[in-house]
Amino acid sequence: MKAEIVAIGTELLLGEIDDTNATYISRELTTIGVDVYLRHTVDDDLGRIVQVLGAAMRRSDVVIVCGGLGPTPDDLTREALAQVTSRALQTVPGAEQHLRQFFAQRHRTVTENNLKQCQVPRGGQLLDNPVGTAPGILVEHEGSTLIAVPGPPPEMREMMHSHVMPYLRDQLHERGDVPLFTRSLRLADIGESTAAEQLADILDNQTDPALALYASPGEVRVRMWTKAESQSEANKKLGSLEQLVRQRLAEHVYGVDHETMEVALGQALLAAGATLAIAESCTGGLIASRITDVPGSSRYFLNGYVTYSNESKQRLLAVEPELIARHGAVSAECAQAMAQGARLASAADYALAVTGIAGPDGGTPEKPVGRVYIAVDDESGGVIRQFDWPGTRSQFKRRVSQMALNLVRKRVLGLA
Ligand code: AMP
Ligand code: MG
Repeated sequence: MKAEIVAIGTELLLGEIDDTNATYISRELTTIGVDVYLRHTVDDDLGRIVQVLGAAMRRSDVVIVCGGLGPTPDDLTREALAQVTSRALQTVPGAEQHLRQFFAQRHRTVTENNLKQCQVPRGGQLLDNPVGTAPGILVEHEGSTLIAVPGPPPEMREMMHSHVMPYLRDQLHERGDVPLFTRSLRLADIGESTAAEQLADILDNQTDPALALYASPGEVRVRMWTKAESQSEANKKLGSLEQLVRQRLAEHVYGVDHETMEVALGQALLAAGATLAIAESCTGGLIASRITDVPGSSRYFLNGYVTYSNESKQRLLAVEPELIARHGAVSAECAQAMAQGARLASAADYALAVTGIAGPDGGTPEKPVGRVYIAVDDESGGVIRQFDWPGTRSQFKRRVSQMALNLVRKRVLGLA
């Protein structure tokens, strides 16, 4: 099945926002074996949108359009779908009531231009949007399917998940295409090249299932994929490859597929019935933010301190001024004292602390930019690690947060 993706929005072409939607949609389609051949970015111009959509429909089985479904005059996707299919726009029965309800629940009033969001080209269908006002649209036309999803990334993701992917799976099935199944193992504490070395013979001799490595800050993924008639056949094939990979890299595997490090940590804490507090300096709250991205994190996360100044480390975490004077705020001693202070102040079972030099200034020969100390404190003692990760501030913060979450996870599991 051939697909094209069309991202719509002048702001994309001005470089004001990144086209993260196209990346996400590409990745999703690839996981089920739909081939993405072309991607386009078009400004908010009706003529150009129609032109691109027309060509894409003639070439491809499915065209996914994102953006331009809102209520304002520069949102032209709906009109473009009508023009390219030569069908009139019609209001979908019941959609208006649904929209009015959505607005009433949020104490907002429906305006006239919102009502145009209830229209689809004749014969098309609306795709319900539970997290926003703009529904999606699906129209089958002359052997091709046009699917429009909203621009805001959370709404796009929700609609891909609840409507687009199930539709495409059905289509693949009807065509008799053997679907693609994938599984990813997520690794920490190991670099891409070391992981590749450990898997060298498997990487060199792969056929089906196949595998590849992908790296991002603080993480390496082993992606495995296979074509199979059914989920159970795929599970069997992917399962035996997974076993082989785990034999080599077991201690580095922390999660599968969408299990992020914060999810893995949450599972470890829940299983242990333990609670967590954290004290952050150089990550400025990123670790707490990641922990609270996980639904249900209130069951184990008690408290997060962002103690950026020396004074706040002393006042909130009872770090001794003499300790900071002797060792510095970026030191193993300070990290350990911060963790202990956070644990005692919040009566948590575990506390995590990070202190480091994000740069670009503030480095010294003994403590260069990129230096970080990560400490975990618990009743039976604790662990402290030192790393050097020079890079941009955002790379540094991401890496530190990943490694810190991993260190406390391993401590809870008895692995550190
Ligand atoms: P629109 O539906 O075109 O009005 O888009 C609404 C908002 O969604 C835009 O202002 C962007 O912030 C976001 N957005 C639209 N298209 C994309 C895209 N391709 N990637 C990421 N964000 C997008
Ligand atoms: Mg727009």
